[in-house]
Amino acid sequence: MDYQQTRHLNNERLRALMSSGATDFRGTYPMALNLEPSSHCNARCPLCPTGADELGRGQNHMKLELFRGIVDEVAPYVSKMTLYNYGEPFLNPSIFDMIAHADAHDITTKISTNGTAFYRDSWIESLVTSGLDELIVSLDGADAETFNQYRVGLPFDPIIPGLYLLRDFKKRYNSATPNVHVQMLAMRHNQHQLEDIRAIAARAEAHFIVKSINLGMVSNGFDLFDEYMPTQPDMPRRYEQSADRGIVPKVQVGHYCPIVWTSMMINADGTVNPCCYDYHSDWVIGNLAHETVGDIWSGETFTALRQQIHDDITQTPICRTCSVAALIAEQRERV
Ligand code: SF4
Ligand code: SF4
Repeated sequence: MDYQQTRHLNNERLRALMSSGATDFRGTYPMALNLEPSSHCNARCPLCPTGADELGRGQNHMKLELFRGIVDEVAPYVSKMTLYNYGEPFLNPSIFDMIAHADAHDITTKISTNGTAFYRDSWIESLVTSGLDELIVSLDGADAETFNQYRVGLPFDPIIPGLYLLRDFKKRYNSATPNVHVQMLAMRHNQHQLEDIRAIAARAEAHFIVKSINLGMVSNGFDLFDEYMPTQPDMPRRYEQSADRGIVPKVQVGHYCPIVWTSMMINADGTVNPCCYDYHSDWVIGNLAHETVGDIWSGETFTALRQQIHDDITQTPICRTCSVAALIAEQRERV
């Protein structure tokens, strides 16, 4: 299978559509896909819609058959998939089959885990042998007490030894992948441990990322600003607070959103949202139970949403408080 040419042509067509401001995407496919292998989680993180029990679309594992059908349809066009959203991907019993199926179609995969991937040594070995390209590991504390202040209910003990064992398996298999990123969400209660977590990442031979928290995902998120927002000046923040405007993203999206012009979000139950910032599935643009990815991508609902974002983004409720632009700016600064 050589999809290089069809993928290249598709990406060129999308770039031309984006630069012309067109919203009718018939005959194209997304460049990348975001999929949610599971909306179940074993943690109760207070700022996450799943952790706070506010997701509003039930808890599901994506069925392997659905996943395979998606990959088989999009492989000629899509070269990258992120396999996480609002749930722990490694709770899905088919996760390694999913990664392997994408890999067999020359699609790179990236997963974020809360540490569940490290619960069994055989899973850690599978992280290396399954074909996974990138793994983000959330580590928001260097000890259990700090870690569990946000990652409520999650075992801390397997994570750090798991990172070291993954490093060793990569050496044993002489494998450069998965590329491992240890990610710390910068919060008030863990900011003092930044150097400790950085040292753990270095010992694990992993990249270290410090990321800002998102307050917009749960109904009381902005009320928790003082509780969670770090105070140290070197910590990333995607919001600012002022007397007249309240708490707002530091950078707001302009007249077009890069996300809906290049990808879409497929939930574990097969419903589709424009992006992962639609925290409560307010804007369902399709359902893969009875539509294809191509139908939804260029269908009336998604086209109308792109048009509305292009014409006046403030008319789209989910975009008004979206912090994606602030996060993109933060990532650019990091590079
Ligand atoms: S581990 Fe991830 S999916 Fe689970 S509750 Fe926390 S943020 Fe949400
Ligand atoms: S919510 Fe954010 S990421 Fe989603 S379409 Fe709106 S601006 Fe884009």
